[in-house]
Amino acid sequence: MKTMLITGSSRGIGAATALLAAENGYAVAVNYHRNKRAADEVVNKILAKGGQAVAIQADVSKEDEILRLFSAVDDSFGNLHCLVNNAGILEHQMKLIAMDYNRLQRLFNANVIGQFLCCREAIKRMSTKLGGKGGTIVNVSSLASRTGAPFEYIDYAATKGALDTLTVGLSKEVADEGIRVNAVRPAFIHTDIHADGGEPDRINRIKDSIPLKRGGLAEEVAEAILWLAADKSSYSTGIFIDVTGGK
Ligand code: NAP
Repeated sequence: MKTMLITGSSRGIGAATALLAAENGYAVAVNYHRNKRAADEVVNKILAKGGQAVAIQADVSKEDEILRLFSAVDDSFGNLHCLVNNAGILEHQMKLIAMDYNRLQRLFNANVIGQFLCCREAIKRMSTKLGGKGGTIVNVSSLASRTGAPFEYIDYAATKGALDTLTVGLSKEVADEGIRVNAVRPAFIHTDIHADGGEPDRINRIKDSIPLKRGGLAEEVAEAILWLAADKSSYSTGIFIDVTGGK
């Protein structure tokens, strides 16, 4: 059975990806930060359908917790075929002139450094040059990496720009180690993250400017993630799938 670790899969895009991965036959490690109840709900839904899943608490902005997370995956499944670097945070909308150091540090720790370290730990387990069986990494970036998100959250957009660069560079670095690295770039997906940005109704405000005239569903992003994770995309690495309603 193939195994998939999805960071931040207690809610939103991560949770939808966990459910779809289980339907596709993966054993799933459901990582969460604070919301144990939501993570347990995802796991219980998978178990109820005869799938395999475990919930693992870890803050991916902290290296020691990432090491503990990967050890827990080793203990639960014995191997790792796919990492989905999905966990990410957003802070209240503001112009750059108002951003303080602590905010920037929180954003870059949770959205960039954590993803680098998760990639490192995954490669140690997957690399054919290190005795592994290969694997796939899917990074969850954002349309914001292309727009820069002015007046809202340039810092968040810049973390996603870093994730895009990580995807391109790493895809080439590990291509001959049996590992493919790709990314999805969603936007306007109905999840809790917009409330964290201070505007829960953001999608409604801007939906007329989206060519498809609506927000997206977490399940629609999950479909793209699962394709990139699986052998169906075997000749693609270093690519991006935009799930943005045409923006
Ligand atoms: P969400 O609904 O707010 O869910 C965030 C998930 O990440 C939760 O499971 C949360 O765990 C977890 N998480 C947050 N900080 C964490 C940390 N430090 N360590 C481990 N887990 C952590 O977010 P979402 O909208 O699904 O977003 C998922 C990803 O998609 C993010 O990378 C986001 O930037 C990206 N994205 C989203 C959109 C959109 O429109 N929604 C657009 C572009 C990109 P708890 O439940 O324990 O808090």
